[in-house]
Amino acid sequence: MAEKYDIVVVGAGPSGILAAKTAAEKGLKVLLLERGRQPGDKSVGGEFLPISIFQRFPWMKEGPVERAMTKWGFHFLHEDKLTELKFSRRNGEYGFTVHRPSWDRWTSGFAEAAGATLKTSTLVENLLFDKQNHVVGVAAEGGEKFYSSVVIGADGSNSTVALKASLRSRWPLNALALCVKHTYLLSEEEITRRFCDENDGGELKIFLSEKISPKGYGWIFPSKEDFCVGVGSALDVLEESIENRLSNFLDFPLVRKLTQGATVFQHSVHTVPVYGPQGKTYAHGVLLVGDAAGFVCPMDGAGYEAAVFSGKLAAEVAAEALGEGDCSAEALEKYEKKWKKSWMGGDIDTGARLQDLILNGIGIGRLSRLLYELGAALSKHGSYLDKSHKESLAEFLSQIEDLRGLFSQ
Ligand SMILES: Cc1cc2nc3c(=O)[nH]c(=O)nc-3n(C[C@H](O)[C@H](O)[C@H](O)COP(=O)(O)OP(=O)(O)OC[C@H]3O[C@@H](n4cnc5c(N)ncnc54)[C@H](O)[C@@H]3O)c2cc1C
Repeated sequence: MAEKYDIVVVGAGPSGILAAKTAAEKGLKVLLLERGRQPGDKSVGGEFLPISIFQRFPWMKEGPVERAMTKWGFHFLHEDKLTELKFSRRNGEYGFTVHRPSWDRWTSGFAEAAGATLKTSTLVENLLFDKQNHVVGVAAEGGEKFYSSVVIGADGSNSTVALKASLRSRWPLNALALCVKHTYLLSEEEITRRFCDENDGGELKIFLSEKISPKGYGWIFPSKEDFCVGVGSALDVLEESIENRLSNFLDFPLVRKLTQGATVFQHSVHTVPVYGPQGKTYAHGVLLVGDAAGFVCPMDGAGYEAAVFSGKLAAEVAAEALGEGDCSAEALEKYEKKWKKSWMGGDIDTGARLQDLILNGIGIGRLSRLLYELGAALSKHGSYLDKSHKESLAEFLSQIEDLRGLFSQ
């Protein structure tokens, strides 16, 4: 007779690790299943972790971070002209870059230390149902079965759990982005010189241009001895291959300069859900978390924070349901109510509206042009007379930044 667990978590990415850690800390018998040889093996994204994550999960401050990021650089490309908007923090950082393989391995150690059993090289192919059609476990490749009172689907954007539990069908094209990424090797000193300020604070560079992606953006994020260059695009407007979009991006003079002499050592293509959940996130004996549920911010495509937050929340609701001996859909619905009310529900809702406004209302081409015009106008008047666009905009923005303090009092 196969062993029975309180909770089986499918997928040892950020959401699954936090679900397993939280449930095990509550004394539950937890099995964490991962198709890779170890957690993080299959991770391709999530290099930048905003500071709010470390405030929400203070134990992560001890983790293997790469570089502190103290600047955001937004680059708007209009025809062959470039407008840059820079935001910088003097006291503290916006967040840190990490290498997800080592980061995920480090965080999964906490789930194991709490008592969760990690089983790797295990691909879940199906769900197990009882006569009432309630989920009672999972079946892995090769036929091995694992029974549990609750299954937590943390298996990423192509979630088998979501599809087999009929919680949603495949993502519609406008709700999914395709991301392509090159990771480059370069010496630590040279990365510091190209991407960091005098205090070694790194800059996260975002590029908006119709040529790169009419519904998406390009990015460059520096780590210690490597940096990544990527492009994401909503699938409904992807008329040419995503590889062509990356080539166009790499051809921009500034990007060519920043990548000069660096060697590509990794190339990846991955999907990200970018329009929020497209169905329910609970059923009899099942909860969905992270990308499997569609918890990626529609505004910027970031999903690490929502993944860990939802993993923890799902484990808390599942533990309560187990304590009350009722893991029905009615009992687990509490999870959906809770995430909708949380900051995460707000981010998904507002992010989807902003995405609509920028992509379908203003349009990335028009936004880039407007910002370019603003920069040009500022540079020709008053105190901006003899300054470059970059200096003028930096000064203009520093005044806005200073004013922000007045409003927050
Ligand atoms: C190129 C790219 C860049 C990104 N950059 C950022 C960023 O800078 N910051 C940010 O916050 N977010 C970023 N994201 C999004 C972020 O990576 C995800 O939101 C986050 O990883 C979601 O975590 P997760 O645990 O839900 O899913 P995943 O990280 O996808 O983990 C799912 C896990 O489940 C396993 N799995 C899948 N199917 C099965 C199965 N059937 N059986 C067993 N195991 C299975 C996988 O191997 C994997 O380990 C990026 C995404 C991409 C694609």
